[in-house]
Amino acid sequence: DGPVIIVGAGHGGYQVAASLRQAGFSQRICLINDEAHLPYQRPPLSKAYIKGSAGPESLMFRPEKFYQDQKIELIAGRAVSIDRSGRKVQLASGETLAYGHLVLATGARNRLLDLPNANLPDVKYLRILDESEALRQIMPSKTRAVIIGAGFIGLEFAATARIKGLEVDVLELAPRVMARAVTAEVSEYFQARHREAGIRIHLGVQATSIEAEGGKVTGVSLSDGRHLPADLVVVGVGVLPNIELAAEAGLPVAAGIIVDEYLATADPDISAIGDCALFASPRFGGSLRLESVQNATDHARCLAARLTGDKKPYDGHPWFWSDQGDDKLQIAGLTTGYDRVVLRGDPAKKAFSAFCYHGDKLLGIESINRAGDHMFGRRLQGMDRSITPEQAADESFDLKSALA
Ligand code: FAD
Repeated sequence: DGPVIIVGAGHGGYQVAASLRQAGFSQRICLINDEAHLPYQRPPLSKAYIKGSAGPESLMFRPEKFYQDQKIELIAGRAVSIDRSGRKVQLASGETLAYGHLVLATGARNRLLDLPNANLPDVKYLRILDESEALRQIMPSKTRAVIIGAGFIGLEFAATARIKGLEVDVLELAPRVMARAVTAEVSEYFQARHREAGIRIHLGVQATSIEAEGGKVTGVSLSDGRHLPADLVVVGVGVLPNIELAAEAGLPVAAGIIVDEYLATADPDISAIGDCALFASPRFGGSLRLESVQNATDHARCLAARLTGDKKPYDGHPWFWSDQGDDKLQIAGLTTGYDRVVLRGDPAKKAFSAFCYHGDKLLGIESINRAGDHMFGRRLQGMDRSITPEQAADESFDLKSALA
């Protein structure tokens, strides 16, 4: 009972507020927003937004009127502490807000590069709209970008920078791109595609220093002794979940704010969702912290349902996408722990899926330019069904028959 105060107005925070109203929640809802924009979608920041010329309003979930009509109070500011016994949250401005339930949807922040010169203006990160906007503004005056980290964001940006005519080098410490997230087959496909586009990918290397002259970046030195000229450095070396607010309030944290399968923290009046939450997952056995729109949005819906009387454990089916140049990667399921990969389709034709199995159990599907396989994977998982590796590999096997 009482107001719901939501800290963080990203994908998760926005969705809790919207879903609460949709479910008929009639008490006060405050959405604490520490970014100077209406709540917006993050994925385009490294994709369409950076490529195009559309203004920030093209990213907004909803216009301002929506929040007024729905009586969702957008409060500009940053939450700095939680008084659990008094059930109040304090903002940097000194203002305090009383809660019946507190939702921590604080997301994650860029992992910063710990090198000299890493704080120069030509060294950029890509997490929030202001950073994407800043990159978009300076790109036309730049000729050579070095991207540190070949994860999704680094590669999405690399592809765009190349399309915009920049020389692009990508550095990656692992032996293949997106190594933590996708199979070797998919890494190899993207390495080849990016190289075809003229992007130089350097694997198994680290940036050891950023050189600059007069405050302007001139290049990056690598652990193998090479030196790459650059007038722009973009860092995509992962994120750190924003757990400090919870930790300082005495809530258990580890690699995220620890929540149970209902997304509740150790304090029944406080929940955590999205990128910041390390949640118990009966389906996957153990604790998970995921960084995806699906995860943040489905967490938000599950929590809004609980707060309006429909208590169910969170049991979402993970899915994800990444657009890199002309290729669309879509992932259905969680592929960690696979021991067998079966390809359907043909990488040479730029359309294939990697079906990932542990034994005979289908864990997930990574699809490249095969939206049909991706949708199939999501529907199959929703039905808790599987197909055999032999069926997956056999293009004459009709996937739809497995859904009937
Ligand atoms: P966020 O969206 O990060 O929102 C958290 C908000 O809380 C932020 O605005 C933060 O500033 C604010 N905040 C933190 N602390 C406080 C505080 N104390 N007080 C007030 N506010 C606070 N996912 C996909 O599925 N597909 C994609 O293609 C994809 N592309 C991406 C591209 C980029 C460039 C980035 C950065 C992410 C991408 N993601 C993608 C990941 C996805 O955007 C995140 O998983 C999602 O935004 C998580 O939502 P969230 O609400 O947990 O956190």
